[in-house]
Amino acid sequence: MSATSPYREPAPDVIVVGAGVNGCSIAWRLAEAGRRVLLLERRGICAGASGRNGGITGAGSAMHAASRAGAVVFALTTANFALMQQLPDELGGNFGLSITGALDIITTEQQLAHLETATAAERAAGIDVELLDAAATREIAPALTPEIIGATYTRERGGLWPFALVSDMADAAARAGATIRVGARVERLARTGDRITGVVVDGETISAGEVVLATNAWTPELLPEMPAGALVPTRGQILVTQPVPSLIPCPFGTNFDKEYGRQAVSGQVICGGFRRLDVDEGLGTYREEVTPPVLAGIAGCLTDLFPALRERARVVRAWAGIMGFTADGLPLIGRYEPAPGLTLAAGFNGSGFSWGPIVGTVIARLLTGQDTGFDLEPLRPARFLEGGVSWDNPFTAGEKNNPRAHQTEAVTT
Ligand SMILES: Cc1cc2nc3c(=O)[nH]c(=O)nc-3n(C[C@H](O)[C@H](O)[C@H](O)COP(=O)(O)OP(=O)(O)OC[C@H]3O[C@@H](n4cnc5c(N)ncnc54)[C@H](O)[C@@H]3O)c2cc1C
Repeated sequence: MSATSPYREPAPDVIVVGAGVNGCSIAWRLAEAGRRVLLLERRGICAGASGRNGGITGAGSAMHAASRAGAVVFALTTANFALMQQLPDELGGNFGLSITGALDIITTEQQLAHLETATAAERAAGIDVELLDAAATREIAPALTPEIIGATYTRERGGLWPFALVSDMADAAARAGATIRVGARVERLARTGDRITGVVVDGETISAGEVVLATNAWTPELLPEMPAGALVPTRGQILVTQPVPSLIPCPFGTNFDKEYGRQAVSGQVICGGFRRLDVDEGLGTYREEVTPPVLAGIAGCLTDLFPALRERARVVRAWAGIMGFTADGLPLIGRYEPAPGLTLAAGFNGSGFSWGPIVGTVIARLLTGQDTGFDLEPLRPARFLEGGVSWDNPFTAGEKNNPRAHQTEAVTT
């Protein structure tokens, strides 16, 4: 890969911090728009959550459906989904995008009641989703246990190979003229009064007119004035089986989307979830470590749903990654008004691949003085400074979910 090159003069117009799906997308689109871009990453490209996820993407969400926030979630994720399908041509690479639709599998009456309501809200918001009974669900996925009650099937969803997409975007950024420095840890923002004037890396101040933090879970480290609980590091874990014959035709979720998985083109089954069995439900930690109770939960879920895997599947790999969960479940996208010169694209909760490509376009428009084309008000990064933080993250609904009660551990990476 040709994405790393030493930082050179002249000084950048924009410094982007963090080379995950969002940072690489932003750096690419800004470089394409003619800005001198410096992308700084403390580890490697895709080393954060972007290289440790389930690779499921899609448009829309029932979570905020009937609200101004719901409208922008729908608009941005729908635009992202359309853009995602153009990217193989635009990037000249194959990142394994496969639009198959996705199932949200129902195994309890409680899930059925929830999904009846959620499906109605999603349909009203324009999402192409339908509620299926058990027989119709098993027509789509015959390997599912007959014990299921049914599922919702959402057409505009699918899977992809995250590492390939992010690497391709980093390469495209470099081709468009961006300089990418890996192993470059931003220690802090450089400030003159309230204004952000650059960043400090290894004691060296690098100046720029604009700084974009695409640091997701790690954003509070660089912006300590963010109120506690606004953006909380949250650990997710995944296991991967050896390749098995084709069994799972499309990505699936279950139990309020707390468990999820898919079968990759290689035949390997990827499955995650069960944060509720993690220490403090995975909230408040930066440790990228797997924990046996979570992996046991995931394995049990997989074999309960797809009994054939009991005989066939051996787990070959497991990993953990750190997401950035926000108090209201919405990302932080836009200029950070209290500190002119600073823009945020962070807090993508459990669905950054439904946002990353379009976020690059949006931030590039914002920083080149164009209309973004979207109502970003509900995603304003400084919103938690105003009314304090009330934890209402739908991704953790129903769990013991007051992250402010948890002490965030020291960073280990
Ligand atoms: C187990 C798991 C499963 C998931 N499943 C899915 C899924 O199926 N579909 C989906 O859409 N999403 C999923 N997600 C969420 C998704 O991975 C994230 O929302 C997305 O990757 C966020 O991308 P990002 O670029 O904002 O952040 P990241 O990929 O986390 O990138 C942030 C980068 O910033 C760098 N950084 C941080 N601080 C500094 C600093 N001071 N200096 C320099 N660099 C710094 C980090 O090293 C990191 O590389 C999952 C996440 C996990 C952990």
